[in-house]
Amino acid sequence: MEVHSSQEPAVGACADSVGTGSVQRVAVAHLPTEWGDFQIAAYRSLTTEEEFVVLFKGEMRRDVPTLVRIHSQCLTGDVFGSTKCDCGRQLHRTMQMIQQEGRGAIVYQQQEGRGIGIINKIRAYALQDQGADTVEANEQLGLAVDLRDYRQCAEILFDLGLCRVKVISNNPLKLRALEEAGLKIVERVSIEVDSSENAADYLRTKKEKLGHLLELKRT
Ligand SMILES: [Zn+2]
Repeated sequence: MEVHSSQEPAVGACADSVGTGSVQRVAVAHLPTEWGDFQIAAYRSLTTEEEFVVLFKGEMRRDVPTLVRIHSQCLTGDVFGSTKCDCGRQLHRTMQMIQQEGRGAIVYQQQEGRGIGIINKIRAYALQDQGADTVEANEQLGLAVDLRDYRQCAEILFDLGLCRVKVISNNPLKLRALEEAGLKIVERVSIEVDSSENAADYLRTKKEKLGHLLELKRT
């Protein structure tokens, strides 16, 4: 994975790169939230049944380095405030960062539990209750550790009008997917939310087994 410095000239890096036309923007609306006023866009995949939601703020311009995040749906963390993971806090922290900067976009990818679905995720949690870590649990269920595909997320960011992105992610697979789709990563913005004791083991597994770029700290 390459991370480019922000001194690089902004010449048509994305002009002929993404644009495969496999996603369709269906509607855009205003969405006021606790963290600020955003726009929300609905996209559908033209090649699968997948639907996407994009939360964004400010003018989307190819020449302006813009904060982006691909956030993978986590019902337990995003909605119920689970402390088994840091997803909900990362999502809300990202919304705060975009609000402060006045510009940015979050692609909300509806692939629960790294693509295994909510039922299998809760089956995996049950195995974790018996001592397995997040990777071992998926393996015991005969499921791939990560089934997600980020290409259409990158395409959506391109469709929104972006090219040069400052990616808020610790996941090297997401960073690589954005580059492969032709977006220019001008900066990787690391996101560190204070993790609870429960999430610490999960985060350690993500770092050690899935290659996430995390500085672990306990609170
Ligand atoms: Zn989560």
